[in-house]
Amino acid sequence: MQPGSSPADPIVGIDLGTTNSLVAYCEPSGPRVLGEGSGGAMVPSVVRYHTSGSVTVGAKAREDRNAFPAETVSSAKRLMGRSARECAEFARGFSVPLVEGPRGLAALAVAGRTRTPQEVAADILRELRAIAEADLGVPVRRAVITVPAYFDDAQRQATRDAARLAGLEAVRIVNEPTAAALAYGIGQSRRSERIAVYDLGGGTFDVTVLDIVPGHEAGTGADCFQVLSTAGDTALGGDDVDRAIVDRWIAQGAPVRAEHDRAALVHAAERAKVALFAQERVTVECTLSVGVHPCTLDRAELDEVCRPLVARTLDACARALRDAQCTAREIDRVVLVGGSTRLAAVREAVARFFGQQPYTALDPDRVVALGAAVQAAIVGGGRRDLLLLDVIPLSLGIETVGGTIAKLVMRNSPIPTRAHERFSTSKDGQTSVRIHVLQGERELAEHCRSLGTFDLRGIPPMPAGIPQIEVLFTVDQNGVLVVTAVEKRSGTEASIQVVPSYGLTLEEVERIERESLEHARADMTVHRVIDLRVHSELDLKWIGEALVRVRGKLEAGYIAELEAAMAAVRARCEAAARDPRAVEPDGFHAAKQALDRLSMRVHETSIAETLRG
Ligand code: ADP
Ligand code: MG
Repeated sequence: MQPGSSPADPIVGIDLGTTNSLVAYCEPSGPRVLGEGSGGAMVPSVVRYHTSGSVTVGAKAREDRNAFPAETVSSAKRLMGRSARECAEFARGFSVPLVEGPRGLAALAVAGRTRTPQEVAADILRELRAIAEADLGVPVRRAVITVPAYFDDAQRQATRDAARLAGLEAVRIVNEPTAAALAYGIGQSRRSERIAVYDLGGGTFDVTVLDIVPGHEAGTGADCFQVLSTAGDTALGGDDVDRAIVDRWIAQGAPVRAEHDRAALVHAAERAKVALFAQERVTVECTLSVGVHPCTLDRAELDEVCRPLVARTLDACARALRDAQCTAREIDRVVLVGGSTRLAAVREAVARFFGQQPYTALDPDRVVALGAAVQAAIVGGGRRDLLLLDVIPLSLGIETVGGTIAKLVMRNSPIPTRAHERFSTSKDGQTSVRIHVLQGERELAEHCRSLGTFDLRGIPPMPAGIPQIEVLFTVDQNGVLVVTAVEKRSGTEASIQVVPSYGLTLEEVERIERESLEHARADMTVHRVIDLRVHSELDLKWIGEALVRVRGKLEAGYIAELEAAMAAVRARCEAAARDPRAVEPDGFHAAKQALDRLSMRVHETSIAETLRG
């Protein structure tokens, strides 16, 4: 019997990656990556063995890699549990010599000593353990550790040995694609699902087809994850993208005089590639031996560089489907894993290949660690069945003008569910709108939980209120929310994906419900005042414009009366803009109605003028 996971004796989840490693822990509110606050959450899987005997792990070791190649080990995971003979081919790319260790296994000669890949992995695990202990404030002795689905028994055993060397008990070794699925809550719904996990990391690619059968169907009580097939390429990843960018720059005239120039360009290429996630074009200043050289890259060039690499990943996807004896259409879900799946070229190609939008709501280089933490919670007996997942625990909506929330999906709606609503712009000529996705029961955005924002751009300039923006919410059976906004005339579209239940506990949902009841009356009043203000401001604008056009056609007495009514409404709008709670809605409503009645004439006159003109 295993003692359960508890805050005093936690079981953490570890993604021991080829390029980067992370540790996560599952709290009642869901899993989170540890060390995020101190900035060192993602640990590069790089270890430097100084000749003095000291050891550096992570970002610092990676920075110094080019200066101290003979002391630095990267990608040791590729050697885990494999014979020196098997590894001879690709280990030529290593900066330290491959040697034969005990039982013919692969090892490395570094800083005057032979080190097994388990020892290197143990140094990384020790670092992760320290991060976890610093974050959680208790000793950490047990972990769930992930490995690629294609790892054989020897490779899994080597991973366990590495954990033991680091003072950690590996209570479970879990497949990386299984962990990714768990992070998305797949398997917690009532139906079984077939999923494909597409994992493009730094140096390796793999795709796995899994069947997930919920416990009650499997007859075992526990969810069953069955790997149907896996395919991939152990020498294909983000590093290849970086190298291809460098080749391009060299062909364009970047001066390479020494080996370290190339290394500097590789570093710049990675920075440029990552920056293009959020911008269209980037220039990176790169210090080469002949001086500082500006290196430029844009989205289209990056796409072109990626194209042959992406094509190779799709070949592997086709192989995996063939081995699993199914078609792309029979895949219920596609999950993206690995930092390189942030590449737009990858996302688009995968969506086209499988004929569906893949899951991207969770950060692709954190999702495996998050899933490992979920598995750790399950192993430790604290199964996260708090907010699962038959209904929407809290209403979902978007922020509207004036800071209120328009709810599209109501609390307690059964999932899957979908809803849509029309919105428009609030300013003349507005070409973009920011969509702020919210969760909660109150009436004001500031009292709701923010789930994320995105911008819909490229709206053709039109007067306020004319563009038709359709906002669509879909929540699928795993509780993943997709919000899409489409402007009808131009067809321009944007969307966001989130997991609304993350960061929420049962207690918190109950607190939010309680507060919404306590504030119901006051909230409704404020919401009404804000709506009155938003509508009145548009009215005032239209009346003002019409009045400018036809002032000469109206008698002075009417104009004076109209302007007094406008002033009364404007004063309330201004008061409401300062503090909507300070405005009494019935009086506001009456003033607005009076203005509505009076303004008929100016509008009619204006229309008549327009028709005549
Ligand atoms: P691994 O599983 O091999 O440890 P990761 O999942 O951490 O690797 O992925 C690392 C790779 O992701 C690196 O090649 C890195 O350059 C790439 N990467 C990270 N962020 C981005 C981004 N925004 N765009 C493109 N590639 C990225
Ligand atoms: Mg990985």
